[in-house]
Amino acid sequence: MKESATLAVAARAAALKKQGVDVVAFGTGEPDFDTPANIKAAAERALQAGQTKYVATPGTAEARAAIAAKLSRENRIACAPEDISITAGAKHAIYLVLQTMVEPGDEVVLPTPAWVSYRPLIELAGGRCIEVPGALANGFKVTPAQLAAAITPRTVAVLLNSPSNPCGMAYTPDELRALCDVVAAHPHVGVISDEIYEKLTYPEQCPGLAPWSPGSYAPLAGRVVTVNGMSKAFAMTGWRIGYVAAPGAGAFIPELIKLQAQMTNNIPAFFMPAIVEALSDRSAPEVERMRKAFAARAAIVNELLPAIPRFANVRSTGAFYAFPSVAACKGLRSPGGRAITDGQSYAEALLAEAHVAVVPGGDFGDCAADHVRITFACDEATLRKGIARIAEFTGSLR
Ligand code: PMP
Ligand code: GLU
Repeated sequence: MKESATLAVAARAAALKKQGVDVVAFGTGEPDFDTPANIKAAAERALQAGQTKYVATPGTAEARAAIAAKLSRENRIACAPEDISITAGAKHAIYLVLQTMVEPGDEVVLPTPAWVSYRPLIELAGGRCIEVPGALANGFKVTPAQLAAAITPRTVAVLLNSPSNPCGMAYTPDELRALCDVVAAHPHVGVISDEIYEKLTYPEQCPGLAPWSPGSYAPLAGRVVTVNGMSKAFAMTGWRIGYVAAPGAGAFIPELIKLQAQMTNNIPAFFMPAIVEALSDRSAPEVERMRKAFAARAAIVNELLPAIPRFANVRSTGAFYAFPSVAACKGLRSPGGRAITDGQSYAEALLAEAHVAVVPGGDFGDCAADHVRITFACDEATLRKGIARIAEFTGSLR
């Protein structure tokens, strides 16, 4: 199995930093903010109160009810606590979903560029990953016609991720609905909707942009598995809290919980009240403060990246990523004599010579080998410093 390219870059940047190199880390996608104090306090209280035992595998009744209420209220996904399981991060949720859904030879359709872990997890479940490339010229968005052409009798699901890692774009509700209509026409196909970046959309950069959940769409009732978690919106990556919801999907969630019960059981019991706290109104101002900070960073990226010579990219309107093409650098050499042949060699030369860590595009899809991913989950001064280094390095290629 392939290692995670995102985590590999993080490890390489951390090792260089340890040697005293001034590395600008645009690698791993995780918020630079600390978890809001009220959420931490809820976990501390629960720990001190002795909530240290096993609880039900999918989570406590209270935590599942809080998630069901959130999905009903914010996403218009009619949902009961029993339709939900709480997992060790959204990554674990996606693993469990694919293991539960996919039989050997089944096909999962994946619009690309897409997050590095989807393909390995689809293949680990015995499935075939059918990539549908979103063209740079179309803002990385796949069209309904492209999606329709990718669906076969072996297709079990289409895996959607909006806002997207690594594209940094979000589909509009109308665009997502049009993709869902294609799926609706094929009753044997479901949707896996990874909505981990739902709170990070920037209408400031794209007026009218708003989140929309396929799980709320009546023509797909009972066929949508929604995945989300606490990592990105609440700055809780290290806690490892994700969840999956599949209302109306019969035995799907009970079967998924069987696997989870044989594998990990519940996530830490004293996190359960922290989930309830995070999803309460009390956290909303802090979540919005962080969103605004990311929106300001998106504005900086959208201002500075188009000025970089030889870059081609799409405006960032969601998540905290930009995914420029460095194809125009191919055939050139760095000042240190490194040949640039693709995103991988560009990223390696950039890290070695300009000390900026970005993730090479190849593992985000077959169409993405000439791209690199820039994560803008850092303060504005660091962001400007790193982009200035990228601009200078890219301009110095000969
Ligand atoms: N989906 C996407 C698109 C992601 O970028 C991430 C971040 N690694 C995840 C899922 C998993 O997040 P986590 O396991 O931290 O909840
Ligand atoms: N989602 C983040 C990223 O893409 C975290 C690392 C990972 O789990 O892939 O960088």
